[in-house]
Amino acid sequence: MLSIKNLQVKLEDEDKQILKGVDLEVEAGKVHAIMGPNGSGKSTLSYVLSGKDGYEVTGGSATLEDIDLLDMEPEERAAAGLFLAFQYPVEIPGVGNMTFLRTAVNAQRKARGEEEMSAAEFLKVVRAKAKELKIDADMLKRPVNMGFSGGEKKRNEILQMAMLEPKMCILDETDSGLDVDAMKLVAEGVNALRTEGRGFLVITHYQRLLDHIKPDVVHIMANGRIVKTGGPELALEVENNGYADILAEVA
Ligand code: ADP
Ligand code: MG
Ligand code: MG
Repeated sequence: MLSIKNLQVKLEDEDKQILKGVDLEVEAGKVHAIMGPNGSGKSTLSYVLSGKDGYEVTGGSATLEDIDLLDMEPEERAAAGLFLAFQYPVEIPGVGNMTFLRTAVNAQRKARGEEEMSAAEFLKVVRAKAKELKIDADMLKRPVNMGFSGGEKKRNEILQMAMLEPKMCILDETDSGLDVDAMKLVAEGVNALRTEGRGFLVITHYQRLLDHIKPDVVHIMANGRIVKTGGPELALEVENNGYADILAEVA
């Protein structure tokens, strides 16, 4: 599904290499997690995959079902089936959540050459998905993310994900304000959307999130590279002993 080979990335304005050859394969139906000490390049990886400005790819490749992602505009990546959870956390005064969601869904459909969803059809689908995810119907009417609590923003993110039906979801849980309840919401959302055809890459600074998500594969990133890959037990090892032992072992 997602294939990253020897990806090297530097800052555009500075002579600073951040990713120094990242290799990662996420298969359809699997949940991969990336953990690692602060500053190891986890967020940079997700930004580069999303097409955020300010980074320069100096080598390697990233493909989604063999399609080159790095050549595409961010909207094209979304149309190809990539979802990045932090792409839509902005507050948009005056724009109702429902309108925003419908615009995003139809933009994606248009880019794929599909017919737009009618207002009636959209309403039916969004209500059903909101119910499934235990999202209050009231939240659909409010302006996008305005005055949403941390937990509501997370719920909304999961709803966006459910509506866009991506092939590959990338979540970067950098929010240091993510409390246990919000963390559980993210985990429930991911678990609800886990299907055979969909891959997940969950980047997290909190090993606790992985207590709820149960990843298939765990990667440790340090100093711009994936330095160790293992099963869920790797997350437990980090939880119990921190990163020092793993980093010493791979050094
Ligand atoms: P992580 O998410 O693993 O904590 P980041 O990807 O945020 O790591 O950062 C990796 C390294 O790159 C850090 O040393 C960080 O300071 C640096 N970095 C990332 N983006 C920028 C930027 N826009 N300007 C300066 N330094 C940056
Ligand atoms: Mg950081
Ligand atoms: Mg980060």
